[in-house]
Amino acid sequence: MTNSIQTAQQWLHDADALLITASNGFSITEGLNLFAQDSKVKTVIGDLAEKYRLPNLLSAMSYNYPDALDRWRVYARVAEYYQYNYHPGELMDKLRQVIGDKPYFIWTSNVDHHFALADFDQLLEVEGNWQTASCSTHPKEHAHVDIRETLHQIYEKDQAGTLTDADIPSCDECGAPLAMNVPGPAFQMDQAQVAKFESFINQYQEKKILVLELGIGPQNQLIKAPSMQLVAGNDQSHYITINKGQLYIPDVIGDRSIGFSSTILDAFDALITGKGKVDVQGPTAPAPKMTAAEKKQQDEMLQKFYPSYTINRGIRPG
Ligand SMILES: [Zn+2]
Repeated sequence: MTNSIQTAQQWLHDADALLITASNGFSITEGLNLFAQDSKVKTVIGDLAEKYRLPNLLSAMSYNYPDALDRWRVYARVAEYYQYNYHPGELMDKLRQVIGDKPYFIWTSNVDHHFALADFDQLLEVEGNWQTASCSTHPKEHAHVDIRETLHQIYEKDQAGTLTDADIPSCDECGAPLAMNVPGPAFQMDQAQVAKFESFINQYQEKKILVLELGIGPQNQLIKAPSMQLVAGNDQSHYITINKGQLYIPDVIGDRSIGFSSTILDAFDALITGKGKVDVQGPTAPAPKMTAAEKKQQDEMLQKFYPSYTINRGIRPG
């Protein structure tokens, strides 16, 4: 008899392509918790945490600093800590093992840019990342400036006490100050990433696609809802979700879904080795055929969570 772990392995093996979706839980596994109200924010941004009474990293990155230099100090300290000195570890290694030689695409709301820094280049960062800026005056036209080295230089000058207003990064095209490209009125999703994503979805949405969901809480519907809908709309597709204590699998895809209520590392180990002492649920027996009215209700439920940008961009899967 085959157990759930072996079934999940079989789905991985049989898949034509993997759509990997990842959110907060994946970043937390790598040590970046935006919401935690602990001493971490002090460790990362030092005296500025106290100066502005910043409770966590999310507030540090989104605070409306009266002093532009302090804003860039914070950006630079966060970037130095989480990006400049980042070395992909066990989690990324195991993700690579799980992917094997399958075509894949990573769809994430994580802003730490770690997938790119770990050399996963098939990537859509729907909320941008903390290594990219856009022109504050012409965010559309002068978009997506890579500021990795700029941030490192700001950090070094900040530490040496030589940082001045002249170091505030400006647009090469027009000279206006740069702004971090994070969600807000001027946010620009990277259109090159969007184009690659559309092409991946077009190529595989009717094939044996496996959605591998990593650390996306049920309250985060931005990526979760459309990827589940993709699975609901394709009988050959499968869905594996990993989220300790927070599995949420709709009945309509229950017979093609497996949930690991475990750490991502433990689930990766199970997927790689075929065994492990992890809490695994599913797949369930196929649901009885729905009546037309039930189907309509189900569609309406899924529609409700559909993020408008995917509809507007015509990349609605399934
Ligand atoms: Zn500009």
